Amino acid sequence: MRVQATVDLAAVRANVRALRARARGAAVMAVVKADGYGHGALACARAAKRAGAAWLAAATPHEALALRAAGLPGPVLCWLWTPGDPWAEAVSADIDISVSGEWALREAVAAARTTGRTARIQLKADTGLGRNGCQPADWAALVSAARAAEAEGLADVTGLWSHFACADEPGHPSIATQLSAFHEALKIAEVAGIRPEVRHMANSPATLTLPESHFDLVRPGLAVYGLSPVPQVGGPADFGLRPAMTLSARLAGVKRVPAGHGVSYGHTYTTPGETTLALVPAGYGDGIPRHASGTGPVLVAGKWRTVAGRVAMDQFVVDLGGDAAHAGDEAVLFGPGDRGEPTAEDWAAACGSIVYEIVTRVGARVPRVHVNAVDEVDAVNAVDEVDAVDEVEGAGGVGGA
Ligand SMILES: *Cc1c(COP(=O)(O)O)cnc(C)c1O
Repeated sequence: MRVQATVDLAAVRANVRALRARARGAAVMAVVKADGYGHGALACARAAKRAGAAWLAAATPHEALALRAAGLPGPVLCWLWTPGDPWAEAVSADIDISVSGEWALREAVAAARTTGRTARIQLKADTGLGRNGCQPADWAALVSAARAAEAEGLADVTGLWSHFACADEPGHPSIATQLSAFHEALKIAEVAGIRPEVRHMANSPATLTLPESHFDLVRPGLAVYGLSPVPQVGGPADFGLRPAMTLSARLAGVKRVPAGHGVSYGHTYTTPGETTLALVPAGYGDGIPRHASGTGPVLVAGKWRTVAGRVAMDQFVVDLGGDAAHAGDEAVLFGPGDRGEPTAEDWAAACGSIVYEIVTRVGARVPRVHVNAVDEVDAVNAVDEVDAVDEVEGAGGVGGA
């Protein structure tokens, strides 16, 4: 295999159990948007369900419908809607539609009429993120329009929710402001007679660091894949998480070159002495950031090496400094770190990015190889690891941090 992303589904399951333990009474909604942050949405969704995630979430309707097409049962929330999207298909598939404004409510209600079904909708409040969500000034009107749709049997408000701007910076003043704005939005909806199944706000950092944001449901994405959303507070292990993805390649060639030899486009690297160069067959066409040129760390022949010169579309070079290696030897770009390899966090630091982007950008050309799947047949309904939460709690495995 030229390059591959190995995804450990046992890690995904353990991460979901750790998150359930963190969430205490609240249920877990596993976010599997963007192909499960690059890990493979379907396999990770099944693993998350198996480990007791009650809900799934996707950004786009296409992603949500793909979960249903693959047979994933249970509630699925989808929040990024555009006019012209498959609203009716989503209503038919019992996908929970996030509604941030009256235009979206009208689309959902029209889809309910078309399909003869009740649209499951979740009203989203903008409590300060300034992205999607309904502004406080428009909230009461949206709530009452939703109540009217409920009265007509066209909609069922299953959730009230919001999203943080700075939960990854514990103590940021916007966190308390957003929480109190959310409480205010909940009160208005409650007074109007809305009785949602779930109220939720917590993404991964809030799930891990802010219990008062848990409400009925937590909504982690990154942490499901075992990456820390608050690296300045702690790494994955500090939160009882394990990175699920290992990105590795097989060297496409190794050769001796003399001193003063330019390497890759633009010759931004020149060999300082006679040395050995190894060719790693992965480039920005595979999602390797070009910003890793001259900085990205790679484990080759037992040591960390650095990308020498520019990352090209399909390949980059590392300087082995005279060490021996052979075509076909493994190069590990990142993984959980326990074989001494760099982590996605190391790549984020090397490229001026965040771990979210490092794993999500792994390209479609890179095969995902899922390991440690458990009996996927019927796994989604089995939830046979639910009780493991008590074990995790009893062992104190996810305390602290
Ligand atoms: C991506 C996303 C999440 C998950 O965020 P993480 O930080 O990865 O846990 C939750 N809610 C919304 C609205 C999102 O867009």
